[in-house]
Amino acid sequence: MPIATVNPANGETVKTYEAMGEEELERRLQLAEATFRTYRTTSSEERARLLNRAADLLDEDAPEIGRVMTTEMGKPVRQARAEAAKCAKAMRWYAGRAAELLADEHPAEADVRDSGASRALVRYRPLGPVLAVMPWNFPLWQVVRFAAPALMAGNVGLLKHASNVPQTALYLEDLFHRAGFTEGVFQTLLIGSGAVDEILRDERVKAATLTGSEPAGRAVASTAGEMVKKTVLELGGSDPFVVMPSADVERAAEVAVTARVQNNGQSCIAAKRFIVHSDVYDAFIERFTEGMKALRVGDPQAEDTDIGPLATEQGRADLEELVDDARRGGASVLCGGERPDGPGWYYPPTVLAGVGREMRIHREEAFGPVATVYRADGLDEAVLIANDSPFGLSSNVWTRDEAEVDRFVRDLEAGGVFVNGMTASHPALPFGGVKRSGYGRELSGHGIREFCNITTVWHG
Ligand code: NDP
Repeated sequence: MPIATVNPANGETVKTYEAMGEEELERRLQLAEATFRTYRTTSSEERARLLNRAADLLDEDAPEIGRVMTTEMGKPVRQARAEAAKCAKAMRWYAGRAAELLADEHPAEADVRDSGASRALVRYRPLGPVLAVMPWNFPLWQVVRFAAPALMAGNVGLLKHASNVPQTALYLEDLFHRAGFTEGVFQTLLIGSGAVDEILRDERVKAATLTGSEPAGRAVASTAGEMVKKTVLELGGSDPFVVMPSADVERAAEVAVTARVQNNGQSCIAAKRFIVHSDVYDAFIERFTEGMKALRVGDPQAEDTDIGPLATEQGRADLEELVDDARRGGASVLCGGERPDGPGWYYPPTVLAGVGREMRIHREEAFGPVATVYRADGLDEAVLIANDSPFGLSSNVWTRDEAEVDRFVRDLEAGGVFVNGMTASHPALPFGGVKRSGYGRELSGHGIREFCNITTVWHG
């Protein structure tokens, strides 16, 4: 894949970039290592001051970087600006909380004595340069979600961003630099995916985080495993959205539309499989399908657009294949299902009913505005369908029955259970999955501690 900005709204190549050569990469790795030696000794207050400054600059830049993101990957420009604001918020959150999240831990006095120590404590120290392999779908947020905690912990970052968002990738390096972080604290490596392996094998790189597809995750985790380096993986998802009879069905249907089509449907935590109790199935499906049909599909730079084009031509082709496979297998198309004529990689909001276990869309991630709906005769069946997926990122359940909530929280195989709402990330809440959605957690105290050397300090 060439490193280039290609506008998904019309397929035109806007700007292409040369991948960095060996010499430049060597220079950047040396710089990362050298910078870490001093950056690791800076105080938390100093890092917080710089990160708060980055947040202020990002707020100022939001309209412009919003337009750039939309040009690079097609998300509606309103959502792009909101993404920038969310990043600034996460930066401020970590700037304000990191010291507390990484404060020394003191085991119970009796345990300290039992270990033979006069004093003992746990200190969180940084690891060094961390490689971040990131996707295009939230081109700012995916990176900031890693960078804000990593930098506050005293690590330095090396970003390998997706090849179709180079302008956003370069913007991020520039942003941290303008905020006052020394050159080398956060660097963008303009490289294709083929160059990742060698960087990851380099002794100077201490750990890696990847958000993206399963094959990319597997490749990075294998090499990291060979090199015995820590990884965090945030891979795909096919989150269930369960609606039980006691739910506010109208509200559930309204939120279901947003939960499925946010970011043009290209979100790992989008609800993708809608599992509806028979008692409310017809009422929910009618409202949900109406809501999907009412969405405005069009120019992503327009303020009133709900859904823009998919980010890549390949992404649209992959999505179409999943829909065609389901149709051939007997699924019924309640709306959408046909790509429009004309330029751009548009795909309409689509609802598929009667999806069977043998269909690809039942097991694979539909990365675009395509929903599948299932009928369940009770809670047990709903849980069975929900868990019948290789993924386990998050889940959504709609019910007013507390006993049902307890059952879902106990039984759903996912890294999150969102009750009467849709999954959304927040700096204070851990984010990540189980099964083939990956491992490790981002955000919150859990996220910042992933890339720390948890050090035992023992005094005789
Ligand atoms: P990829 O997983 O291919 O891309 C994500 C990142 O990984 C990019 O930076 C990419 O670089 C890099 N990468 C790809 N292959 C390798 C590799 N073998 N070794 C090291 N790095 C690699 O996602 P796609 O854009 O191809 O999307 C495919 C599918 O992945 C989607 O349809 C969706 O199902 C899933 N996906 C999930 C995301 C999520 O948020 N969990 C985000 C994006 C995709 P480069 O761009 O240079 O190839």
